[in-house]
Amino acid sequence: MQTGTINVQTENIFPIIKKFLYSDHEIFLRELVSNAVDATQKLKTLASMGKVKDEMGDLTIHVEVDKKNKQIRIIDRGIGMTSEEVDKYINQIAFSSAEEFVKKYKGKSDADKNALIGHFGLGFYSAFMVAEKVEIRTKTYKKGGATKAVKWECDGSPNFTMDDIDKNDRGTEIILHVAKDSEEFLEEYRILELLRKYSKFLPVPIQCGMEKTSEPTGEKDKDGHDQYKEVEKPRIINNTKPAWTQKPADLKDEDYKNFYRELYPMNFEEPLFHIHLNVDYPFNLTGILYFPKVKKNIEVQRDKIQLYSNQVFVTDSVEGIVPDFLTLLHGVIDSPDIPLNVSRSYLQSDSNVKKISNHIMKKVGDKLEELFKNNREDFEKKWDDIKVFIEYGMISEEKFYERAEKFAMFKNTDGKYFTFDEYKKHVEKTQLDKDKKLIYLYTTDTDEQHAFIETAKSRGYDVMIMSGVLDNHFINTLEQKFENTSFARVDADIIDKLIKKEEDQPSKLDEKDQEKLKPVFEKFVNKENYNISFESLSETDQPVIITQPEFMRRMKDMSKLGGGMDYMGTLPDSYNLVINSNHKLISEILNEKDAAKQDTLVKQVTDLARLSQNLLKGQELTDFIKRSVEMIGK
Ligand code: ADP
Repeated sequence: MQTGTINVQTENIFPIIKKFLYSDHEIFLRELVSNAVDATQKLKTLASMGKVKDEMGDLTIHVEVDKKNKQIRIIDRGIGMTSEEVDKYINQIAFSSAEEFVKKYKGKSDADKNALIGHFGLGFYSAFMVAEKVEIRTKTYKKGGATKAVKWECDGSPNFTMDDIDKNDRGTEIILHVAKDSEEFLEEYRILELLRKYSKFLPVPIQCGMEKTSEPTGEKDKDGHDQYKEVEKPRIINNTKPAWTQKPADLKDEDYKNFYRELYPMNFEEPLFHIHLNVDYPFNLTGILYFPKVKKNIEVQRDKIQLYSNQVFVTDSVEGIVPDFLTLLHGVIDSPDIPLNVSRSYLQSDSNVKKISNHIMKKVGDKLEELFKNNREDFEKKWDDIKVFIEYGMISEEKFYERAEKFAMFKNTDGKYFTFDEYKKHVEKTQLDKDKKLIYLYTTDTDEQHAFIETAKSRGYDVMIMSGVLDNHFINTLEQKFENTSFARVDADIIDKLIKKEEDQPSKLDEKDQEKLKPVFEKFVNKENYNISFESLSETDQPVIITQPEFMRRMKDMSKLGGGMDYMGTLPDSYNLVINSNHKLISEILNEKDAAKQDTLVKQVTDLARLSQNLLKGQELTDFIKRSVEMIGK
C-alpha cells in the first residue's frame, strides 16, 4: 500500500469544496459522468486507430444509487488508469486545477460564483461536495508492464491511499460514500433528475436503475388485439445521437419535430420551422434553432435555448451569446468554443462570442430569406407568427434590419401581404399629402377602429394592420428608416387632416355660430380630455368624430410596454372632438330653439361618436341606450 499527501504546500481545499461551494452541489454528477464519457470516447478513438487489444464490449456507463450502503457509484468501461496515471492525473493535475478553481472562486461575488461553478466544473474533486470518502477503482486498457488494477481512496483530508486490487473489467469505478448532509442524492429520483438535466444528450449510453415498460408478447387475444406483458429493462437516460449532431441531409422534417418534442416535452405546439447550425471555422458550433408559435406573452417563451458543450448541458440562459431577439427562439446550441468560465460581461465583449452571435444572426437571416424566396405563399402564412421575432430583430440589430427589409411584410386590412417596397408602390400615388409626404395609415384594432378604416377606404386609401406587441416600437424604427414618410393611426385625426391634400374648405358655420355651439358641447364632455374643434368636412361624414392624436397615444402605449416613460401613463387620455360644420344635423342643432331638445341632440351625437371609439361605457352607455329608445318612440 502507498500513502501520500496530495499537496502539502497549500492550504487544505477540501473544507472549501465542501462548505463554501454551496450553490451547485449537484454538478458533481455532471463532472463525474462527463469524465466517464471522456474515458469511453478516448477508448473508442484508440480502438479506431487499432490501439486497443481488448474487446470493446458494451460501453454503457452505469450510475448506481445504493441507498442501503449510502453509496453512489459511477462505472465506466473506458480507458481506465494505471497507478502512475492515477498519481499524475488525480493527485497532481486534477488537484492543482481544483485548487486553482477554488482560488478563483474565492475572490468572486455571489452571482459570479454561481456562474463559475455552474459553467466551469471543479472536475473530479467536486465529488467531495457530497461525499465524505471517495474511492477510485480503475484498470487501464493497456496491457503488460505496470498495468495492474488500482484503488485510490481519500477521505477529504489531503491524505490518500493507493493499493493494487483485483479487478477484471477494464475501466473506472468511482464510489462516493455520501456524506450525511447530502443524503438527498441517495434518492434515485433525484439522481435521475440530475442525469436528465445534464446528461440527456451525452454520446455514450448511461444507465440508471430499471424501468418497467410493456412489450407485445406476439400473441393476440380472441378479438385479434395484440397482447402485452410488463417487462423490466435497464433505464437508459440519454439519446446518444441527438438531432443536432447529425447531418441535415440525414434528417427529415419529422425528425426535427420529434427532437423538438424531446427538448420540450411540455410544449405541445409544433415549431414553425427550424435552422440547423453547423460551423467548424473559425469556431466550432452546431445546433438547431426553432421558431416557436408565438403566444400572447412572449416573455414566457424566452430563454428556452439550451447551451451544450460537446453534448454536456451547460445552461439554458444564453444571454450575451445570441443576440437578444433570438432568445425568443427555442433549441440547442453546442459549442466547445464558448468560454464558460468567465463572467457575463466578459462574455458579451468576447470577440469569439461576438462572431458566434453574428453568425447565428446571419443564419437566421439566410433561412428567412430562403423561405421567403422559395415559397412566398407559405411565408405569408407564417408571417403573423414570426413577425414578432423579425420586428424585434429589426428594432434592435441594425445588421438584421438590413437583411430583413427585403422580406419583412406589411399586412393590410384586406389580409394582403406586401414587402416594404411593394407597399410603397401600392400607396405612393394615393397617400401623398400636399407637402409630398407619404402617409402610411394603420390600425391597431380592426373592430374598434372600424368606422375610421371604412372612411379611409372610401377615400381610396389603404390601411395596414399593426396590432402586434412590438408594432409601436417598430413604427418608430420605420419612421427613422423611411424617407419622408410618417405613420398615422387611422383614428389619429379626421382622415382629410391625416392626409391633407389641399387647404381647408370654407366652413358653413361662421365664427359666431361656432362660439354659440361650442359651450353646448362643452357641457357634455370633460374639458381635461377633449379638445373641441370645428372642421368643414364632407356632408356625408359623421356629424361628430372623436380622434386620438398620434403622438400622445403612441407615447402612452410605449410607456405601457415599459419604455421608461412611466409618467406618460399617468397623464389623462387626450382626444379631439371634431364637429363637422358641414353636416345637416349640426345646422339643425344650431337652429334648435328649445334648449332642452338641443341638449339632448348634442348629447346624442357626442355619445354616438364616443360609441364608435369604444369610449362609452357603464352608466353613460345605459343612459344612451335608454335615450335612444325614447327618441325612436317619438
Ligand atoms: P478534467 O476532466 O477537466 O481533465 P478532472 O479533475 O475531472 O479534470 O479529471 C482529471 C483527470 O483524471 C482526467 O483528465 C482524466 O485523465 C482522469 N480521469 C478522471 N476520471 C476518469 C475516468 N472515469 N476514467 C479515466 N480517467 C479519468
